[in-house]
Amino acid sequence: MKILKIIPQGFCHGVLRAIHQINHVLDENQYQKPLYMLGSLVHNRHVVQSFEERGIEIIHSIDSIQAGTIIITAHGLSVQKQKAIKEKGLNIIDATCDEVKKIQNLVQKKLQEGYTVLYYGKKNHAECQAIIESNPEVILIEKIEDVDHLPTIQNKIFFTSQTTMSYFDLQDILNKLSLKYNEIEKGIDVCNATKHRQEAVLEQAPLCDLCLIIGDPSSHNTMKLKEICEEKAHTKAILIENIADLASVSLNHISILGITSGASTPKSLVDEVIQTIQKNYPPCEVITKVNM
Ligand code: SF4
Repeated sequence: MKILKIIPQGFCHGVLRAIHQINHVLDENQYQKPLYMLGSLVHNRHVVQSFEERGIEIIHSIDSIQAGTIIITAHGLSVQKQKAIKEKGLNIIDATCDEVKKIQNLVQKKLQEGYTVLYYGKKNHAECQAIIESNPEVILIEKIEDVDHLPTIQNKIFFTSQTTMSYFDLQDILNKLSLKYNEIEKGIDVCNATKHRQEAVLEQAPLCDLCLIIGDPSSHNTMKLKEICEEKAHTKAILIENIADLASVSLNHISILGITSGASTPKSLVDEVIQTIQKNYPPCEVITKVNM
């Protein structure tokens, strides 16, 4: 068996920046304690647990918090919640990814210019919640069928999305919107890190008999990689969080095993999975390209 390491994969620059920022906070020891993180810095429990072990408490509301520092996660936070934190006199460390901030700013700008903003996202995702809470007039599109139920819009229309949506589904939605409305201005949407990981899966997964997607089930971009692998690349995909999940996966009769990982999955987890497979299925070479 050969393992095809699908590249790019793993930590994106936004996640790396957020992790460095929080490590700096913990190392410097100069921020007002206790340290709280409002939600998960990134959607990976291994990453979040490592911060909890170093003294950061994960919270989901600031209601009972009276003092200390609140870390805003890479997904961003609504202006109302940020205001509430400041009004309580709490410190803020903002680890919002720059790509997310760009979209937040763009949505506000376009609304001020009189556009109707259509936003493709998942309503329970922190990034989407920050946008919708801050700008309740934004119209959320969660799936292509939602386009059928959109009202007649007289204003100019601006379309953007959550950074971790499927780039391919987004194109389908945009095409459908273009049939329904005369003119749509498209802004930045899915970030390059997401897009490049999805394109790599679409291109390389068909060369594999099976793909392992390593990441946390709560990670939206990880689940999108699995979905693209199965639905667009037509290759069977299994999501695993770590080596413990390998016990239930049979790799007998697999010639080429594809491996990719979400933008919030630490490289160490991927390395452990590869080493375990190499040990259990020798000889097993790791490749990054399939010679046709
Ligand atoms: S997936 Fe994109 S938007 Fe999200 S943290 Fe990474 S770079 Fe930023």
